[in-house]
Amino acid sequence: MYKIGIDLGGTNIAAAVVGFDNKIVAKESVPTGLPKTPDEIADSIAALVRSVASKAFVRMDEISVVGIGTPGAVNAEGVVENDANLGFVNTPLREMLEERLGLVCRVGNDANCAALGEQIAGCGKGTRNFIAVTLGTGVGGGIILGGKLLTGVNGAAGEIGHMVIDREGIPCKCGRIGCFEQYASATALVNVAKEAFPDITGAKDVFDLAHADNLRALEIIDDYTEYLADGITNLINIFQPEMICIGGGVAAQGEFILKPLREKVEKKRYTKNASVQTVIRAATLGNDAGLIGAANL
Ligand SMILES: [Zn+2]
Repeated sequence: MYKIGIDLGGTNIAAAVVGFDNKIVAKESVPTGLPKTPDEIADSIAALVRSVASKAFVRMDEISVVGIGTPGAVNAEGVVENDANLGFVNTPLREMLEERLGLVCRVGNDANCAALGEQIAGCGKGTRNFIAVTLGTGVGGGIILGGKLLTGVNGAAGEIGHMVIDREGIPCKCGRIGCFEQYASATALVNVAKEAFPDITGAKDVFDLAHADNLRALEIIDDYTEYLADGITNLINIFQPEMICIGGGVAAQGEFILKPLREKVEKKRYTKNASVQTVIRAATLGNDAGLIGAANL
């Protein structure tokens, strides 16, 4: 038997056939093609499921479950309560796909799926208490406690990007001031760096300048890492997970960012003398994490 994982995004819909060893057998993706109605999006997902299954030479009766990772909060019934980009408002995505496919479907938040994927098959393999932090346009995350994804009472748990770390700081689109993602996202790093280097276009440009020993770029990254360490230390102090994995474009910098991050966290964390401490590592699965996690919802 096989599982199918779907990563539904505003730009693309990706699908993977996943074996029971959690290895990806085949992958396929199509443009989401917005604007579309929720029914049209469900039609696209159903067509993609059939197509990727045939690519893997897997029959529909060999598929035990289809898991879909979507932006937005997803309740226990598989209803996406809100996503402005995809036009979902209380959209019963699970039911819509079960009708179209005649298979058991599960729906979860995309950042949570990525965390689950890393915990099951990536850098967190073997851990039961694990947090994934993704540094991209925003800051996403997922929290796994005792081997179980923390969804909260309404499916919206794990929004670690919206913990406030500076109440007199930068306004956030969620309505609060000084959220973690306003300091630790790749977008935040670029916004700060643009004041010194107006020509840069992405976070990689800032790191390239730092690798060339540009002092201002090094200062900007040091300050960025300090904020990142504040948020990561908050998570460690509350959850004391076995591992926190850092994903997203910034994590591609590897030890260049992780080494100073660990040093800063070491100074900040509450448990300075504990013999067992949270390990901080880079995510290893990239975009496959969301697909493998969705297949395992
Ligand atoms: Zn916020």
